[in-house]
Amino acid sequence: MHLHLSNGRAATDACGGAAVAIIGHGNQEVQNAMIKQAQKVSYVHTQSYSTPVAEELADLILDGTPHGLEKALFLGGGSEVVEAAMKLARQYHFERNDADRMHFVSRKQSYHGNTMASMSVSSNLARKVPYKGFEYPHVSHVTPPYAYRYKMDGETDAQFTDRLLRELEDEFLRVGPSKVIAFIAEPIIGATAGCVVPPAGYLAGVRKVCDKYGILLILDEVMCGTGRTGTFFAFEQEHVVPDIVTAAKGLGGGYAAIAGLYVHGRVIDALRQGSQALNHGHTYQAHPVSCAAALAVQKILKGDGLVDRCREMGVVLEKLLRSELAECKSVGDIRGRGLFWAVEFVRDGATKECFDPSIGFGAKVTQASFEKGVAVYPGAGTVDGVKGDHVLLAPPYTVTEEELVTICRTLKESVLSQEAQYL
Ligand code: PLP
Repeated sequence: MHLHLSNGRAATDACGGAAVAIIGHGNQEVQNAMIKQAQKVSYVHTQSYSTPVAEELADLILDGTPHGLEKALFLGGGSEVVEAAMKLARQYHFERNDADRMHFVSRKQSYHGNTMASMSVSSNLARKVPYKGFEYPHVSHVTPPYAYRYKMDGETDAQFTDRLLRELEDEFLRVGPSKVIAFIAEPIIGATAGCVVPPAGYLAGVRKVCDKYGILLILDEVMCGTGRTGTFFAFEQEHVVPDIVTAAKGLGGGYAAIAGLYVHGRVIDALRQGSQALNHGHTYQAHPVSCAAALAVQKILKGDGLVDRCREMGVVLEKLLRSELAECKSVGDIRGRGLFWAVEFVRDGATKECFDPSIGFGAKVTQASFEKGVAVYPGAGTVDGVKGDHVLLAPPYTVTEEELVTICRTLKESVLSQEAQYL
């Protein structure tokens, strides 16, 4: 749980880097597994070889699960796996002689990566500025299920959901539903909006609208997956079955750079009946040492019942956040699920007005907290084009109640110290 810094100080890692370190740092079992694999075979090219670690990792993740995800491809990181998901979705339609489909629909306040195509479907506006005109052009963005910002006064969850689903269907119709490849979404929106949990029924509704027009559903679980929200896949709690899933951070738990593309049987079938192969690949995909690290992390996750623990400790974290931060006037919203929580800051609780972006209130809270020995993650969202402020908590699933108390108390002190200056 602790990072020991070169200045002799230590920081409690309350965000796992960026929701990465799910079993904490320095685990010897994982280190040993990596060394053993490097001694056995450090690298082979997947065009000619598979390795037992890659096979075992895929089996461990996908076998015996009822959601129909049949195949896994292991890549290097989140952006890379989102690119692969977008290409696979395109290839799926191409193989089915439906090659007019060029368009992706995504959501505002989403983050899917930093490479050209993954950045194009993302809505992190600041990161796009120097690349205007370079982006993949066939993308549009609809309203996310971000109730704090987009639910209207007096609107029920069901009405909010219906409105969003109507907007999505209208967008499909505007583009031409036979032109849309896929809808891509984070089941729980991570870094950009800050741990936004959709209203019940939203994702199941999205699935229905996609199915109506033969549009694929890609769920990006790079940040919210691999147990982070209290089930192995975040989508399990939404009663929905996606066509393609992306995962990354928690897969290797920070011990190695690795991401997972998990693909539903119906997509695989289209390839089987067509060209028989995904037209995509990278030199370092399914890297044996990375797979060995991820396999060791996932075995610990399963063996130690850490997904259940994440769900249980999530209940503790929510309670602590709500009680500790109750006196902080700048806290507009506290939201999340499992061990994935965000605190959104506003200058005015009644109007939800954001702080002047030049203050960087969220970044200042992050810095104050770090100086007090607790590392939290600064969010990077925009609200109606204005930079918003939130911090994100995503500790390892091994976090103790005592550590959660320290984390939440420190966060409160940090927020109060910044309120004294800027409110
Ligand atoms: N998708 C989501 C949901 C993410 O949160 C991120 C990173 O934060 C990415 C994709 C990109 O992952 P990476 O930074 O590993 O390229």
